[in-house]
Amino acid sequence: MIEFRQVEKHYGSFHVLKEINLQIEQGEVVVVVGPSGSGKSTLLRCINRLEAISSGELTVNNSKVNDKKTDINKLRRDIGMVFQHFNLYPHKKVIDNITLAPIKVLGMTRQEAEKTAMYFLEKVGIAEKAGQYPSQLSGGQQQRVAIARGLAMKPKVMLFDEPTSALDPEMVGEVLDVMKALAREGMTMVVVTHEMGFAREVADRVVFMDQGQIIEEASPGEFFSNPREERAKLFLNRVL
Ligand code: ADP
Ligand code: MG
Repeated sequence: MIEFRQVEKHYGSFHVLKEINLQIEQGEVVVVVGPSGSGKSTLLRCINRLEAISSGELTVNNSKVNDKKTDINKLRRDIGMVFQHFNLYPHKKVIDNITLAPIKVLGMTRQEAEKTAMYFLEKVGIAEKAGQYPSQLSGGQQQRVAIARGLAMKPKVMLFDEPTSALDPEMVGEVLDVMKALAREGMTMVVVTHEMGFAREVADRVVFMDQGQIIEEASPGEFFSNPREERAKLFLNRVL
């Protein structure tokens, strides 16, 4: 579903992604870990072309992300993204945050979009907040709204960039539970997180990045009990 082949990216003279080769299959949950500044967010942002790659090839669903002939808006419809800061529209009610894109981009009727929105709010466990404004919700609830908003577009892939890093500790679990349920239902997910428990429990594969490179790729069992690379060992010693 997603394939990086020899992908390089520079920010000016700074070489942020180096020789990235990575394949993600449909239904797979890949957790990306690594120190701050190692290029994890950049890697995710290349997938929906929030960042352009410098060279190499990146395909999503067999479409070349950086090809001029690729309809990027169509491609982005298939890719949901959830950020550390929930990025909800503060002046819109929860339900209207969710119906906006399905109406504007997918051309759903309001009625259809509201039905879809309620379905996904139900799913993330906060249907009763539909009529409230984001500021009336806790951080964990806001992040669940952001996930529902992503799902309402019926994406084929969900990207998560440190979705629990801005939350108070007591709210981390409720967001991870929603993500776990999504994984169990077979959603293809790429998750950048520092939640090693989540990685261990949910990931099909763990990708460890350092200084712009993929240093190690392994099953969670292998990665956490017996990392091959010295840098991975050092990282795990610091975070576990
Ligand atoms: P991570 O998510 O692993 O913390 P990032 O992908 O955000 O890492 O950043 C990787 C490196 O690229 C960092 O050194 C960061 O400072 C740099 N970087 C990120 N975005 C930009 C940008 N827009 N311009 C220049 N440098 C950037
Ligand atoms: Mg980041």
